[in-house]
Amino acid sequence: MTTVRRIPLRRAVRWLLLVVALALAVRFLYWGQPQPRAFTLVPVQPGQWRITHDGNPGEVWQAFDVDDDGVLDRFVTPDGEWTRPSRRHRPPRRWLVVCIDAVPFGVMEELWQRGHFREFHRPSALVSTFPSDSELAIAAALHAPPGPGYEHQYFDRAANRLRGGVFVTLSGRSIPYLPRFDYVAPGWHKSVQYVLVRRAWHAEMGRLRQRFRETQKPVFHAHVSSGDPLFHRLPRAEAQSLLIEFEHVIREAYYAGRGELGVLLWSDHGNSLVRSRSVPLDALLHARGWRRSDALRAPRDVVIPAYGLVGFFVAYCAPEAVAELAADLSRLEGAELVLYRGPEPNVAVLLGTGGRRARLRWNDAGTHYRYEPEQGDPIELEPVLAALAAAGRLDAEGWVADADLFAATARARLPDAVARIRTWAGTTQVENPSDIVVSLKPGYYQGRGWFDRLVTMEGTHGALERDSSLGFAMGTDPLPETLRLRDLLPAELQPRN
Ligand SMILES: [Zn+2]
Repeated sequence: MTTVRRIPLRRAVRWLLLVVALALAVRFLYWGQPQPRAFTLVPVQPGQWRITHDGNPGEVWQAFDVDDDGVLDRFVTPDGEWTRPSRRHRPPRRWLVVCIDAVPFGVMEELWQRGHFREFHRPSALVSTFPSDSELAIAAALHAPPGPGYEHQYFDRAANRLRGGVFVTLSGRSIPYLPRFDYVAPGWHKSVQYVLVRRAWHAEMGRLRQRFRETQKPVFHAHVSSGDPLFHRLPRAEAQSLLIEFEHVIREAYYAGRGELGVLLWSDHGNSLVRSRSVPLDALLHARGWRRSDALRAPRDVVIPAYGLVGFFVAYCAPEAVAELAADLSRLEGAELVLYRGPEPNVAVLLGTGGRRARLRWNDAGTHYRYEPEQGDPIELEPVLAALAAAGRLDAEGWVADADLFAATARARLPDAVARIRTWAGTTQVENPSDIVVSLKPGYYQGRGWFDRLVTMEGTHGALERDSSLGFAMGTDPLPETLRLRDLLPAELQPRN
């Protein structure tokens, strides 16, 4: 007979905890490693590339640009040939559609010019919403219902209180566009990605690669949220070089499709790429006798949500206070443009710096606009309208068509300003439209206090200006040179969930 020697329970628990802690430490140590490169491209002569398959040493492919547009069209491999699919001539069997958050048009265009992403057409400029932030921009591109507010923290008018915040980021609850993606990062990832920028990026590249390998969905929509911290936190050159890992991951997926996979890549907004600091908002409000609060109880109470460190902010106040508060905010250091709705319908009042002031008017259908400057030209539209008038594109009362204005201003310093201002002034952008919105100059942000002491901001977005507002779009099919978010996805690529 043998006797069983009992291990004391307390000692067993201690050992178990140690093993778990060690496992977690090892897991963390190896979390967020760069993804291996599957293929290497070397240009041989104009219009021809030599491709080595790093995953299968000794295997060499050839690729050709057959129509001289700089895009790889035909691939010759040891297992036969395949060509780039085309929606019109040879539709692909499956689609990979990736929103890579915050990649500025200029950054992607430069990479393409340097010979990267040549499986795809030259990047187009994709004009974001105003404010140029993900919540609004992604909802517009995916034609999703409006979310509760402009960011994850928002003012609930009916309840008269600030709601949301980190809980919304962590849980993804009440974000209507999220379920439309087949891949999004988990909430905890979105919370650490602004601190562990590079590792979160590598980890997400790994997850994207893995998730696409596992799917058989005919249209796979992915959102790469860790693109956003690259441009907020890293110098431009480093952010740009990290995008090459994204190129490798996408290339591997595209080549595995052997001409049966269509690809569309896009970003929801850009980034100012200018080191930024906080606007002295509280000092201004205090000096002007306003009380910043989390509810509207007294006539001079103001609610201004503060969440991300972004180049815009929205304000809620009593209806009688709007014009005066807007005028005060237009004197804020770092403010470029302050907007509020006019007393009549279909009118926005625009306040620029130095007392510049105008009204913008539109018809019910939103197809025509009239700009009425009162002092100066706050959105730099007068030269544009003069040119359109000279070309006979203005009617006798000064009204001009949306399409003409888009064509004339889509790449302006304030891209597509009139249509983006009208959307902000409407009632369908968010469930709780603000009374006032302020667009900040490059170099300034407004946001949560403790976070701005924690990190350096190499850039931000949210403003009406070009660098923050122009994302990119490119894919296996050519796109218009410049387009709006709502026009990005053709019907067959709209997510159905
Ligand atoms: Zn951002």
